[in-house]
Amino acid sequence: TTSARKPGRLFFANPGPTNIPDSVLRAMDRATVDFMGSDFLEVYDEAVAGLKRLLFTEGEVFVYTSSGHGAWEATLQNLFSPGDRILMPEAGYFSRTWGAMARQYGIEVEMPETDWRRGPEAARITERLVADKGHEIKAVCIVHNETSTGVALDLKTIREAIDAAGHPALFLVDTISSFGSFEFRMKEWGIDGVVGGSQKGLMLPAGLAFTAVSAKALEAHKRATITRFYFDWTKMMARRHRSFVGTVPVSPFYGLRESVRLIEAEGIEAVWHRHHRLAEATRRAVSIWSGNEGVSFYCADPKRRSDSVTAVKMPDGHDAEAVRAIAYDRFNVSLGGGLEPLGGKLFRIGHMGDLNEPMILGTLGVVEMSLRLAHVPHARGGVDAAIDYLATA
Ligand code: PLP
Repeated sequence: TTSARKPGRLFFANPGPTNIPDSVLRAMDRATVDFMGSDFLEVYDEAVAGLKRLLFTEGEVFVYTSSGHGAWEATLQNLFSPGDRILMPEAGYFSRTWGAMARQYGIEVEMPETDWRRGPEAARITERLVADKGHEIKAVCIVHNETSTGVALDLKTIREAIDAAGHPALFLVDTISSFGSFEFRMKEWGIDGVVGGSQKGLMLPAGLAFTAVSAKALEAHKRATITRFYFDWTKMMARRHRSFVGTVPVSPFYGLRESVRLIEAEGIEAVWHRHHRLAEATRRAVSIWSGNEGVSFYCADPKRRSDSVTAVKMPDGHDAEAVRAIAYDRFNVSLGGGLEPLGGKLFRIGHMGDLNEPMILGTLGVVEMSLRLAHVPHARGGVDAAIDYLATA
């Protein structure tokens, strides 16, 4: 039965949450400490300073006890007023949901439709901003890595697209499934607001999220009138922790300090490189499987295939949930499913966080086995292709 203990490790090959390193688990396993006590303040300050280094920013970072949705919400509440206009290209489940949330707060959200298999074109953003002579658009909001589709965007190109229009809109980015997995540089790339979460590249449990902001965003905050209380940045800045209007959750900060330590010990660029390698091994496998009119890449633009998640599209008439059920129930590997409206049409292999070659090869082996057992068309040999790549790259 599914309730019996499955031997061995559960592999999280889900695009978040991800595998938590043992040292992070141990760092969080502790009795209550005083959140205003000097020992904890030191831990807290180190953890937040580390987060800033990893984001490549010297700006303010507001941390929340919530999953990513809370950071989305806080960012909207603190930067906008009802009736403000924002541009949010709709390129998948997550950009669509963030946009729907903004509408709920009375923000006028322009969501140009884009091909979900390719993501938005930077030139369309320039065009729209050039047409906005009165500078009504207050922000361009971009999901760096659409976790639902496996399409990752080049943020430098989008920065250039905004600059090409000479438009003062804020540039806001959701890095929830890219941060800690592939290159991100807040200051250098001129980003005004960064939304992130704990349970993906940071290798922590879900439950911490944050917004990092530029000085320009803090100015916009002063004019923003959307109702807020708990997530109010002004109230947060008045507190010692410069976050948390109420009780500060201590355990996650021991974990965050440790995850920053692990990432910096490996080197952030080495971490990005490792993700690229493991993602490329995954792509080699999917390329082989796509033979025999089998499964294929959901992301139709090879240059935009994400280094943290690969979405695998099913051939017509086959259900991705059958593959996922076999992988999970029989082999203890958790894959991501298709999010609305892609349910059943694809499954997602997460390759982010605390991951190495045997873990990715184990996952790819289980995917190939599950495709076979679910009688889904594919060409055999995907795992061999991944081995060939990893052995030489
Ligand atoms: N944005 C992106 C890109 C995501 O991948 C997710 C979750 O997977 C979210 C936002 C929502 O975050 P959460 O599920 O932590 O609330």
